[in-house]
Amino acid sequence: MTTVLEIEGVSKKYGDHEVLIGVDLVVQPGQILGLLGANGAGKTTLVSIAAGLRTADAGRVRIAGVDAVSNPREAQSHMGIAPQELGIYPTLTVADNLGLFARLAGMKGPAVRQRVEQVAELLGLTEKLKKQAVTLSGGQKRRLHTGMAILHRPDVLFLDEPTVGADVQSRAGILAVVRELAQQGSAVVYTTHYMTELEQLDADIAVLQRGRIVASGTIDELVARHSSSKVVLKFD
Ligand code: ATP
Repeated sequence: MTTVLEIEGVSKKYGDHEVLIGVDLVVQPGQILGLLGANGAGKTTLVSIAAGLRTADAGRVRIAGVDAVSNPREAQSHMGIAPQELGIYPTLTVADNLGLFARLAGMKGPAVRQRVEQVAELLGLTEKLKKQAVTLSGGQKRRLHTGMAILHRPDVLFLDEPTVGADVQSRAGILAVVRELAQQGSAVVYTTHYMTELEQLDADIAVLQRGRIVASGTIDELVARHSSSKVVLKFD
């Protein structure tokens, strides 16, 4: 299988604080990789570096074979990103926010409207399409963020705690689109504090602890290994 995301030897310091220490990760098409770790473990920093939003002190990132450091624009054309701080235009309608993102991602013509309607349906936002984004609840905004990241069916999707503050319906909608995208071949990197979400996604897991990947594998493998290791699987 082709590797679509390769992270190799990525290190990052903030001042004297070593947040990431030689992190290696590979993700294949169709794979959902759940990145678990306590508060401050470095998850957001790692995802932001992989997505080209922050720079690493050392190491390299390749997305769909493209070096993300020397070729950030090309690498970003293969990605979908829904960072917590992603901007929604509050006075535009939900349809216009989605349509704008689709066009920014290079989609054109009737395909835009078709895909916007499809994504809204998947996320349970169809009735909100003509409403201004400012009128959405927190959970609905989370769904809109996720919709923006998946519109163009990226090769790699980065979701950083996408369900924080989301209600039950929003959480279910977000998990559904992640599954749909992975089934169609996208790779997904999904940070969360919730092991149950990763079980529902049937994700593989990498555990980040004090800047290092200390365990990785399927949930069953980690649970089996846990009984004979010092890795503590506790995150909330
Ligand atoms: P959480 O689950 O709470 O979101 P995280 O695993 O995503 O945590 P990061 O946000 O990557 O962790 O932060 C890792 C560490 O780096 C934390 O100690 C944080 O305070 C520190 N940090 C993050 N961003 C910066 C920054 N821009 N400047 C200085 N320190 C930072």
